Amino acid sequence: SAIINAYMAATPGSAALHSKALGAFPSGITHDSRWLKPYPLSCERGKGAIKWDVDGNRYVDLFGGHGSHLLGHCPDAVVEATIEQMRKGSQFGASHALEIEWANLIQEMVPAAERVRFTSSGTEATHMAVRLARAHTGRRKIARFHRHFHGWHDAMAFGVDGHFDGTPTPGVTEAVADGVVLLPPNDIDAVRALFERDNDIAAVIIEPIGANTGNVPIPGSFLKALRAVTQEYGVLLIMDEVVTGFRLAPGGAQEARGVTPDLCTLAKIVAGGMPGGAVAGRKELLDELDFDVSAAKGREKIKHPGTYNANPVSAAAGIVTLKAIRDTDACARANAAAEAVRRNLRKVLAEENVPWGIYGEFSFFFIYMNGAKLDIDPMTFDGFSVPSSTFVPDTRKTLTQKLHLGMITNGVDPMGFRGGILSAEHGEAEVAAITDAFRNTLKALKV
Ligand code: PLP
Repeated sequence: SAIINAYMAATPGSAALHSKALGAFPSGITHDSRWLKPYPLSCERGKGAIKWDVDGNRYVDLFGGHGSHLLGHCPDAVVEATIEQMRKGSQFGASHALEIEWANLIQEMVPAAERVRFTSSGTEATHMAVRLARAHTGRRKIARFHRHFHGWHDAMAFGVDGHFDGTPTPGVTEAVADGVVLLPPNDIDAVRALFERDNDIAAVIIEPIGANTGNVPIPGSFLKALRAVTQEYGVLLIMDEVVTGFRLAPGGAQEARGVTPDLCTLAKIVAGGMPGGAVAGRKELLDELDFDVSAAKGREKIKHPGTYNANPVSAAAGIVTLKAIRDTDACARANAAAEAVRRNLRKVLAEENVPWGIYGEFSFFFIYMNGAKLDIDPMTFDGFSVPSSTFVPDTRKTLTQKLHLGMITNGVDPMGFRGGILSAEHGEAEVAAITDAFRNTLKALKV
């Protein structure tokens, strides 16, 4: 098609790198979400809301480092703090002052964070969170929701884009899958029914605004109901704030939705674009990692090594980033930019007479391509029960691929086919560029 040809004409450098990458990596990629036919974009530079590919093409970036860059690519203060720390040392094999300052910022900003433990990624954070929950409650199982993504360790590896019946994906054992219960989202009766029939549930873990950061939305009312029912049955609530933390508001979804979990997981923004994560929550739960408390209680503590836990370079980047988020209106700016995009794209759909919908909250927008016009504001659907399959994007793969490639050839790199994540650096010019790219792509697609 014309769109695919235009993409290939503009990106010969990405094509060449992809042929080399095929000799190194399965599918030539290093993260599944970068899979794109005929080949993914290879980039070499980013600044603010913009990134450049290896052919020098300029893009308004709507992926933002998988959500890490609330302040945009390479904020000067973060770059300087990182380089300065790199000169001093990247791993001392010792405690250091920066890790305390970093943790104190989290304690100050995140409502649930009485104590903190740093990891190297979001996957590690959810891995530790569920282990803490099991150890503390003495119960065996974790409940989670269809499509909610919590990283790739065994207990979280299925039920994300299939296997909703709880059968494990290749390489995961039945024994692990037996310890996980998958629930439909937005169905509080299903949660209650589970707690009634099974008293072996240690915790429920949830993406607080819905699967894939709101692609299948969770209204605030469900989160509040979940908090109430978990408290009623003595089940722990883990909020996976790997994406939403420091983004929806300085205190994440906990602040924005007014719901405090027992534990939360953090990554991405917390480490200012460097590798890093954390599990934070009630002291009594984090005490499962404490040598003295465990000894005093006569029980074995949970072990938690990790060479790069709280490494000083990630700490330096994280401190500068969290301070900027605490002390400025960065979250509000990103949210306002996304609101403007949602408004504009809805207008474009109406003007072009395309029966799709635009939805999303905070700094996200999503494109609903399944044909029915979405003229309600899907984000006010408190009490509006949505079957999870309704809000997943179009399954006509060719169309979604063309939309993705069309946006790229029009100078915008979206978050796959799903929509986009805005940053505090997306201003009026970027919103206008996104709007124009969407209009041009729709015209080329002739939907
Ligand atoms: N949890 C959520 C909600 C995520 O979106 C992600 C990553 O995108 C993870 C966990 C895993 O984090 P990481 O990629 O740092 O392992």
